[in-house]
Amino acid sequence: MSTESLIPVKEQRDPETTTLTIEQETNPWEAQASRFDFAARKLNLDPGLWKVLRYPTREVIVHFPVGLDDGSVEVFTGYRVQHSIARGPGKGGIRYAPDVSLDEVRALASWMTWKCAVVNIPFGGAKGGVICDPKKMSQGELERMTRRYTAELIEFIGPEKDVPAPDVGTDEQTMAWIMDTYSMHMRQTVTSVVTGKPVNIGGSRGRREATGRGVSVVCDQAIKYLDMSIDGCRVIVQGFGNVGSNSAKILAEKGYTIIGIAEYDGGLFNSKGINIPDLLAHRKAAGTINGFPGAEAVDKDDLLTYPCEILIPAATENVITSRNADRIRCRILCEGANGPTTTVADEILADKRVFIIPDILANAGGVTTSYFEWVQDRMGYFWTEAEVNHRLDTIMSESFKDVVNYAKTHSVNNRIAAYMLAIDRVAYTTKQRGFYA
Ligand code: NAD
Repeated sequence: MSTESLIPVKEQRDPETTTLTIEQETNPWEAQASRFDFAARKLNLDPGLWKVLRYPTREVIVHFPVGLDDGSVEVFTGYRVQHSIARGPGKGGIRYAPDVSLDEVRALASWMTWKCAVVNIPFGGAKGGVICDPKKMSQGELERMTRRYTAELIEFIGPEKDVPAPDVGTDEQTMAWIMDTYSMHMRQTVTSVVTGKPVNIGGSRGRREATGRGVSVVCDQAIKYLDMSIDGCRVIVQGFGNVGSNSAKILAEKGYTIIGIAEYDGGLFNSKGINIPDLLAHRKAAGTINGFPGAEAVDKDDLLTYPCEILIPAATENVITSRNADRIRCRILCEGANGPTTTVADEILADKRVFIIPDILANAGGVTTSYFEWVQDRMGYFWTEAEVNHRLDTIMSESFKDVVNYAKTHSVNNRIAAYMLAIDRVAYTTKQRGFYA
């Protein structure tokens, strides 16, 4: 395995060159590492700890065969990266997408370490992915691929080792297959090996909506902090999947006006507000948001630059870059997705005084409720949805306050504050545990 790309881009590039190419700007590992370095420098982090926390602890690459429906055999490549297990088992989703790469999984695993530390739950950070196109695969092919990928990782995952969850391209059914495969190998049912399962097999009530609910809680807190009002607060959401649709639905229920929704195949705009339950029903029937009668069709990329109070990128990485950051016209950027904003875009948005709620805080509602699911599975005692939501709201509100207070005290922006808070917590634990040799 190559470690070349673990070296910061700044050290790889010609010292005469001051600007990053778009490929360098949008490399997710680079985005994570440069923010980590900046925050670590601000913290005066011990150089040894700096090295320990900068690199993933373990990277597993598997190439495995799967029989396809047409009788042929395909070999898939999958990854599982465990960035840190200092504060508890690794925790992080599994992504199925054609453009999954080791650098992306590394970055996502590191983000999970910082995210779990920001909301102060006892997990480290991990992430997995398989290079595939789930939209082009049958349920049978997906099941066989998932089971074989799980079997390849069997000694690396487990309730006390590393606990996967859904991410882009995976869902509750995928988690049920992983749980079943792991349980067959262990010769007993082990529900706590994954989170984001269906409720009847050990899933938590409220998990499906948790990331969107968390997004809504930090938006509430930001509105209060900035002395704004929910009344007339216009919101644009990119991505109408798990995070985007639940964020839009819950924010609309709270009184926010959702004026725009962008999907990969089109955008919708209605200055008076889009009826989200109607749009969900339309998407269910039509398979797309396009053709929805309650809004006007607009360009999906232009929509990100429409004036609004809150912009929520909730689709994928690198959607706000040096190419469009100067045209963004929101007051609050609430990052539902992981890594939607590049470091170069951060600087442009700072000049425009956009208030950023960084991904490692904004979308931490999902992993927080995953933590609740893991706790409930291990207790064998399940909470009501109201209990889950109440605990989630408390953790997200407190974490928001921790981050903005840290930002004020240390005169840094919210993103760097979230990194500093998280790195400080992980570094403290790592130092206290010492180094086994
Ligand atoms: P999802 O697959 O359910 O939804 C993603 C949606 O975005 C899809 O509807 C897709 O069509 C759309 N999309 C993809 N590219 C797009 C583009 N360029 N423009 C507009 N729309 C686009 O995935 P999800 O679980 O909602 O995850 C979305 C993001 O949130 C990812 O970055 C993921 O890592 C992050 N996240 C998810 C969770 C969770 O609990 N699901 C938790 C934390 C973070």
